[in-house]
Amino acid sequence: MTRAVRIAHLYPRDLNVYGDLGNVITLVKRLEWRGFRAEILPVEPGQVFDFSSVDLVFGGGGQNSAQSSTAEDLLARGDELRKISADGVPMLLICGSYQLFGREFLDVTGRRFPGLGIFRSSTTAGRHRMIGNLVVDSPFGQLVGFENHSGRTILEDGQEALGTVRQGFGNNGGTGDEGAIVGNTIGTYLHGPALPKNPGLADHLLLCALRRYGIEELEPLDDKLAQRAATVAAARPQGHQTALHPRRRPLHRFAAALRGL
Ligand code: GLN
Repeated sequence: MTRAVRIAHLYPRDLNVYGDLGNVITLVKRLEWRGFRAEILPVEPGQVFDFSSVDLVFGGGGQNSAQSSTAEDLLARGDELRKISADGVPMLLICGSYQLFGREFLDVTGRRFPGLGIFRSSTTAGRHRMIGNLVVDSPFGQLVGFENHSGRTILEDGQEALGTVRQGFGNNGGTGDEGAIVGNTIGTYLHGPALPKNPGLADHLLLCALRRYGIEELEPLDDKLAQRAATVAAARPQGHQTALHPRRRPLHRFAAALRGL
């Protein structure tokens, strides 16, 4: 394959928390280590962008504020993204972007953000954040990462999950599922970044992209370091829930209390 593999990176400025950029770097390096070239195409709000020649799409996570600043722009690109998703272009959406690829995201103020509806799922922000190490049993093996979200994602009947939670909260801390898969489009709460410690998932996405050019297999890489990192991550303690806005003493009252000591 002479042409570079074209990776569209959705809103790299706004949706990029907890090292999510590391996912794009992992995809690029795993292509280059095999002799392929890669081209990263940032998609920013308001920018004219043609998805028709894109080989892979990545979207990271972000705070509610970042989601609200990108949700409208993403919606405007919905027809193109739904088409290429249905055509089998691989996509990986993390947390905030995962939520916006579902039917809707209700933020903690009750504001509703319509989603792309690629995943038959809906997300509602809760009063507590689900934070910590996440371990998931999936078709791509055991996946490990870090989660930090208040959104509780509920999958509709028949919507396939990425996997089942072995440790952590996953989609909502209750139904035991994590993420969602439609064709080659994958959503997940795995931050970390996810792909450096989950080479099987990274190569699955790359193979989905390369198969469109008749490339049916990838040369194996030495993933010993990645496996060791995954083993360490999987052994880390369970996560926890924290109240969204714990009652904090205003600073001046805290200072007065100190003066009173
Ligand atoms: N703001 C969303 C939530 O808290 C997504 C957070 C994220 O992308 N880490 O659920």
